[in-house]
Amino acid sequence: MSDSGSASLVSGDVRTHNLSLLMRRLVDAGPSARSDLASATGLARGSVTALVGVLIEAGLVRETEVVPGEGAGRPRTLLSIAADSVALLALQLDADQAIAVAHDLDGTELLRVAEHHGRPMGDPEAVIDVAARVLGSALDDLEAGGRRVAGLTVVVFAPVGEEPRVVVADTDLGWGRVDVLAGLRALEPRLPRSATLTSDVIAAALAEASLIDDVTDLLYLKSNSGIGGAIISGGVLVEGRHHLAGALGHIAVDYDGALCDCGQRGCLVTVAGPDVVLERAGLADVLQHDGLTRALELLVERVHTGDEEATAAFVAAADWVARAIAIVRMTLDPQIILLGGYWAELSDLIGAPAAQRMRLAAYGSELAPPPVVAGTLGADAAILGALWRLRADLLADPLALSA
Ligand SMILES: [Zn+2]
Repeated sequence: MSDSGSASLVSGDVRTHNLSLLMRRLVDAGPSARSDLASATGLARGSVTALVGVLIEAGLVRETEVVPGEGAGRPRTLLSIAADSVALLALQLDADQAIAVAHDLDGTELLRVAEHHGRPMGDPEAVIDVAARVLGSALDDLEAGGRRVAGLTVVVFAPVGEEPRVVVADTDLGWGRVDVLAGLRALEPRLPRSATLTSDVIAAALAEASLIDDVTDLLYLKSNSGIGGAIISGGVLVEGRHHLAGALGHIAVDYDGALCDCGQRGCLVTVAGPDVVLERAGLADVLQHDGLTRALELLVERVHTGDEEATAAFVAAADWVARAIAIVRMTLDPQIILLGGYWAELSDLIGAPAAQRMRLAAYGSELAPPPVVAGTLGADAAILGALWRLRADLLADPLALSA
């Protein structure tokens, strides 16, 4: 790289950093005059004026009111985040429905649109069709309210990889490799160019992890659309060569068990996946007619009220989950094991056999097994993770998502 090339790269980075400083200050301190911003950030008054001009142009900041100056000083114009002119949008596809949720820059929920897709197996077009309608409806509402989408993330139930991002593999809905963003864009051309694709389990794991202090090594395991996992090791998300790291639904635990769609025998999902548990709990009809979300709600309700069939079905599955946890604990040595999806609501029934199995390890007497705890964000964990990430990205690089 030439000297001039590296110089412009550096100055671009500095500009981004300074734009980020100003945005963060306005978010933290509320409406502020240019002179306040200059003294709070240490930037020169002239730089602040120029950078604020860029942020106003991008629709992220606006002049709000003129207040009298202090003493004999001139009146000052206050600036604030243009919170009511932009929106952050997450569009989630799960095994049941497509759902769009939009947030204000301060985290207030602006809208929620959802439509069931009826779980068509092996037919990604049918699911993307529903997702495009939900997206279109959300974009219509935001436009009608005078809001521009400052960032959009599409969250899917399957592992995501490649660049640009695609679904790399899936067994929950019988997809292979699927370019979800291209499919959506073909049906809904307003999909922003900066839109990204992420897997629900990673978005949910990062959101839940962000609420726990001082955790650098975490295993996240969840079940709703199938079974998924995410691994944070040494503070870093472990994705693996093919973005399959943490796909713990396909750890083979029952070596001579049923053939899994992935090609192995006895994967965790074949003995503890939602379809198996719901079938054994006598809820297969509910799954078929009212969808996965409703069927799992009923399962949890029945286990909590002591229904024998439901409890036996879940306890049997929980022991397989415990075996998988014991295997992965010795692989990763996590500080904490966090449960998400409907497992969060039945975490004691997984935590007890998991603790039992982990204590069998030879180090058991010396090193206590990591606690198995319930995530706290519920069904919205992945959507919140995506929206929080968009907000953090927007504050870190205010112009990156405007494309
Ligand atoms: Zn499998």
